[in-house]
Amino acid sequence: LLSVAQALTLVLEHAKPKAPALTALRETLGLVLAEEVVSDIDSPPHDKATVDGYAVITADLVAGHADLGVLEEVAAGQLPQKEVSPGFATRVMTGAPIPRGADAMVMIERAETLPPVAGQPRVLLRETTVAAGQNIMRRGVALRHGDHVLSAGCEIRPIEIGVLAEVGRASVRVYPRSSVSVLATGDELVSCNRQPGPGQIRNINGPLLVAAALRTGATAIDLEIARDEKHELRERIERGLQSDVLLISGGVSAGVLDLAPAVLAVIGVRQVFHKVDMKPGKPLWFGVYEGERGETLVFGLPGNPVSGLVCFELFVRPALGRLAGKDQETHRTFVAELSVPFTHRGDRPTYHPGRLDSSQPPRVEPLAWQGSGDLQTLTRANALIHFPAGEQSYAAGLEVDVSRI
Ligand code: AMP
Ligand code: MG
Repeated sequence: LLSVAQALTLVLEHAKPKAPALTALRETLGLVLAEEVVSDIDSPPHDKATVDGYAVITADLVAGHADLGVLEEVAAGQLPQKEVSPGFATRVMTGAPIPRGADAMVMIERAETLPPVAGQPRVLLRETTVAAGQNIMRRGVALRHGDHVLSAGCEIRPIEIGVLAEVGRASVRVYPRSSVSVLATGDELVSCNRQPGPGQIRNINGPLLVAAALRTGATAIDLEIARDEKHELRERIERGLQSDVLLISGGVSAGVLDLAPAVLAVIGVRQVFHKVDMKPGKPLWFGVYEGERGETLVFGLPGNPVSGLVCFELFVRPALGRLAGKDQETHRTFVAELSVPFTHRGDRPTYHPGRLDSSQPPRVEPLAWQGSGDLQTLTRANALIHFPAGEQSYAAGLEVDVSRI
């Protein structure tokens, strides 16, 4: 039986980053940049006021106060028309350019409007120490024309969207969003808007896997439920092969109606592996389809919801990360201390739901779990604890590997 590490290596060997494409900025949130970005502007574009107030000559305020003539008002978006000379000031709003001649801004809170003299507005400023450059942001201090602003490989968050907007990149080259199709299989399944009849259960994995795919930043198509019947499976799988990744839930175990591997073989999806030494998730099937539109990675996930989720976290998420140009996705495992003693017994390496706290180093509590059919307990989980095969008792404080879910 393949180990989890061996299986992951095989998955990643087949997951190649998608070809970068020029994409509208508003479509790029969560994607990975595939080019170096330089600035086409200075930021700020002019010496600008960082407060509302008066642009002055510092020498006019050496006494700590000054009665000055007001030349004009400049709002953000306007340009000063007059040069400031000794004895004068210009009212300037935050963000507006500093007029020539002035070398500091005195904020409006320090100003008192005086009656005009011969039609000339006047202001009394009181500020004991006025330093040259005070409350002025000089042109280009944040960014200069030609400066390198973002590197290929960076993940685009709202901050990067803002920076790209600032440097005029209404479209950028990114690794495109991956498409995922999700197909639930099983004669026992009904859609979640139905009351299950005798022997039936609601389709959990369809909605769960669609959501898991969306959360990685992929797009997702729900192919709904296929019966355990070869023709129906084939027709539905062929639709799913139009996506970059096809997730089939159920039908890959050893039951008489576990038809997926056989149908996949008929369609020409090449099996890379079937079954992994892990619990839950042992029946995992993985293969690759070379179609006209390119390569589709096909995962046959076990039908138990928790098993499917564990396989998604361990294999599908890293594969989607690789398609999207991300490297970090394979390094989600870290060490935590058990918060309580725990005995694990099992013939396979086990991924047990746990609750990580926020202490440093992190501590994790294994949750009382009824096995792979028990999704309810996972609502309290935020991690999977990795226990090696065999029986072992762990004291509280012992280190275990965990991965966040
Ligand atoms: P299978 O892998 O098809 O043998 O299914 C294993 C177990 O998971 C069975 O108990 C199924 O009823 C259950 N199961 C399969 N598919 C789903 C699904 N989409 N939602 C909830 N449970 C499922
Ligand atoms: Mg089934």
